[in-house]
Amino acid sequence: MELSSIYSQILTEHNSHPSNKYHLKDPTAVLQGINPSCGDEIELELKFKDGIIKEAAFTGIGCAISQASADIMIDLILGKTIKEAIVLCETFIGMVQGEVIDEAHREILDEAIAFQDIAHMPARVKCAILAWRTLENALNQQL
Ligand code: ZN
Repeated sequence: MELSSIYSQILTEHNSHPSNKYHLKDPTAVLQGINPSCGDEIELELKFKDGIIKEAAFTGIGCAISQASADIMIDLILGKTIKEAIVLCETFIGMVQGEVIDEAHREILDEAIAFQDIAHMPARVKCAILAWRTLENALNQQL
């Protein structure tokens, strides 16, 4: 199954013009994620203040899905509390693994809804969730 064209445009845009792909100064946490089945690598840098994600950025190499997913994820988590961001991770990972998404989920996932059809492409699921799993690990270490 192909991604619908509007969604593939979102992915292409974030992949070719990522707004969050750089290094932070003095990150609080740095975590690496690797998806060997595709060769995707992500390094996530986070800065927390008072339980809130103040800054986040990533660097990495890999397929368009893995890199666009990281970029979109960071747009969504900035300014969120650690707990809100964990809920976001769980919701996104659930969606990509084929769980049913309701209206409330759609609202919090926002642009990340673009990845919904990945659930029909099992080989790409690991690409889409790489950044989110990496983030989830980083956040759980902060609790
Ligand atoms: Zn990939």
